[in-house]
Amino acid sequence: MAKIVPQPGIMDIALYEGGKSKVDGVSNIVKLSSNENPFGPSEAAQEAVRRAVHEMHRYPSTDHTPLRTAIAEVHGLNADNIICGVGSDEIIHFLCQAYAGPGDEVVHTEHGFAMYKISAKAAGATPVEVKETERVTDVDAILAGCTKKTKLVFIANPNNPTGTMIGMAEIERLAEGIPPQAILVLDGAYAEYVEGYDGGAKLVEARDNVVMTRTFSKLYGLGGVRVGWGYAPKDIIDVLNRIRGPFNLSNVALAAAEAAVKDAAYVEKCRAENTRMRTWLAEALMEHGVPSDTSTANFILARFADQEEAEACDLFLQKNGIIVRRVAGYNLPAALRITVGDEASCRRVAHTVGLFKAGER
Ligand SMILES: *Cc1c(COP(=O)(O)O)cnc(C)c1O
Repeated sequence: MAKIVPQPGIMDIALYEGGKSKVDGVSNIVKLSSNENPFGPSEAAQEAVRRAVHEMHRYPSTDHTPLRTAIAEVHGLNADNIICGVGSDEIIHFLCQAYAGPGDEVVHTEHGFAMYKISAKAAGATPVEVKETERVTDVDAILAGCTKKTKLVFIANPNNPTGTMIGMAEIERLAEGIPPQAILVLDGAYAEYVEGYDGGAKLVEARDNVVMTRTFSKLYGLGGVRVGWGYAPKDIIDVLNRIRGPFNLSNVALAAAEAAVKDAAYVEKCRAENTRMRTWLAEALMEHGVPSDTSTANFILARFADQEEAEACDLFLQKNGIIVRRVAGYNLPAALRITVGDEASCRRVAHTVGLFKAGER
């Protein structure tokens, strides 16, 4: 009898592990493991959802025109070059499905986001991991890792889980240097946290081989409703739209995202508060002997002496009701990724790390 088997590559995929949200037997938990906005979504987004509830029996828009128009107006972009997805994860998935297959290579960095590898394998392509330099994207290493088979190059800028980023001149050098058959994908999941940074939008407009992805899951506080978008040359948008499900985003999600992107004052407030508490947290951890690289995102990669100390600290934090993220799966076994929470959460995590470093277990 013929055996039922999935496509090549599928069984090599390691299941994505999300940030934990509970600890057995511990109440009053503070969750700093998934880079969520501690203040949640804006009031305007919540109100838009309450209104959208009355339209739940209607099929949603297939072309997302109101949301694309709102994004374009707010960011000064061209709405025709925007595609919306079920989180930016879906845009990453579309890119791999459309441009990479068996025999093709998808380049990502050593401490790059897990979805690049997962989506590459799902498409039957081969993920290729290249080194970073001291937890920073290394353009020369990426260029050296490209071959005739490279179809996609993914970098997150700022990167998760390192929190570091590279400058526009380096990104331009990368876009210029990759092979002619390859697309550079700039994952801007944390771009909103960087004052004055366009995530690479202008570079997308200037070239034909660069795509930018963005999300509503982080600064906009809408991770639970799943909306992301991509900005790309028109011919790439046209390709991706052919594999996008016509009703991939719900009415509720579209309404929430449209209201959220228009609420500039809330975005500004969240960015400023993140910057303030991120600086505070990095300094407080440093005073307790826990260094980190300068972060440009909404989390800090706290470095410990070794894997044993990082894991012991994680367990101690959990015992005290604080959940952070282990990043051994990102080749960073001696580090913990800590999301920048509200002031009380930041004080609590810094205090608890201090107790741990002082010898409490
Ligand atoms: C969180 C994150 C995403 C966003 O995922 P969504 O599917 O939009 O929720 C994308 N890239 C990176 C690097 C991230 O950290």
